[in-house]
Amino acid sequence: MDDNTLEVTLLGTGSPIFVPGRYSISTLIRAGDNYLLFDCGRGASIRLHETGLHPGHINKLFLTHLHSDHVVGIPDFYISGWFTTYGRRQGPLRVWGPEGSAAMMSNLDSAFEFDEGVRAAEMKIHHNANKTHDIEPGVIFEEDGIRVTAFYVDHRPISPALGFKVEFAGRSVVLSGDTRPTDSVIKHGAGADLLIHEVICGDKDNAPEPEQFERIIAHHTTPQQAGDIFTKAQPRLAVYSHIVLLTGADSRMLEHQTRETYGGPLLVGEDLTRITIGNEITTERLS
Ligand SMILES: [Zn+2]
Repeated sequence: MDDNTLEVTLLGTGSPIFVPGRYSISTLIRAGDNYLLFDCGRGASIRLHETGLHPGHINKLFLTHLHSDHVVGIPDFYISGWFTTYGRRQGPLRVWGPEGSAAMMSNLDSAFEFDEGVRAAEMKIHHNANKTHDIEPGVIFEEDGIRVTAFYVDHRPISPALGFKVEFAGRSVVLSGDTRPTDSVIKHGAGADLLIHEVICGDKDNAPEPEQFERIIAHHTTPQQAGDIFTKAQPRLAVYSHIVLLTGADSRMLEHQTRETYGGPLLVGEDLTRITIGNEITTERLS
């Protein structure tokens, strides 16, 4: 294994909307021998399993914000990771997230107290607990040549909401988290190898509830706006994940609208797309 590999696997590329084949947001980054998980949406553990990994193999989780579609997969990921069958996580699950993350993880421990008791008594399996940090913007992780920087994005009224920049071996990946167009993403994403951005796309004229439609769109980034961000940041590869396709929208419309403002390399993410960053950036779809 090349120890300087920076590799991104899109585990889930969707939103709260139930879409078979597109689970909610979760992104796995491998930097050398280290695995870092960003957000843990619906089905994250199943997708991990499909890559040949288990929850217990991963002990670093970074949260952009506490919207349910970004955290709803944590109980499964957290608890299954204790099982020998699923990798038997050594030591606590380390979690970094915005204010409220430590309280949420502590409440999860309370919620699964029964399970902890039963397994401890019957199978001598003990939950290894978690070590969760409520973080502020800045460098929040620096180990084994990996640096993770958190920055504020604008997902109001959901606040705080964070984006992340991951740097390793001279390469970088930026994750926008959920945000309306924000300068901090352009600043941190400028010249990055990958800029992974959220996007929302819909046909307003055919929306059943136009007011609700407008309200949802206002918290997010349209394809034209994302294209403008990609044009300004000039990543080597622009990637969409956390793809919200509202009524009447599809991937073709998404790409078409992005092309109104951006002509560079673009990947519309699918679950289990793996992107390897080297002198070339290669992509493959794990089956
Ligand atoms: Zn959100």
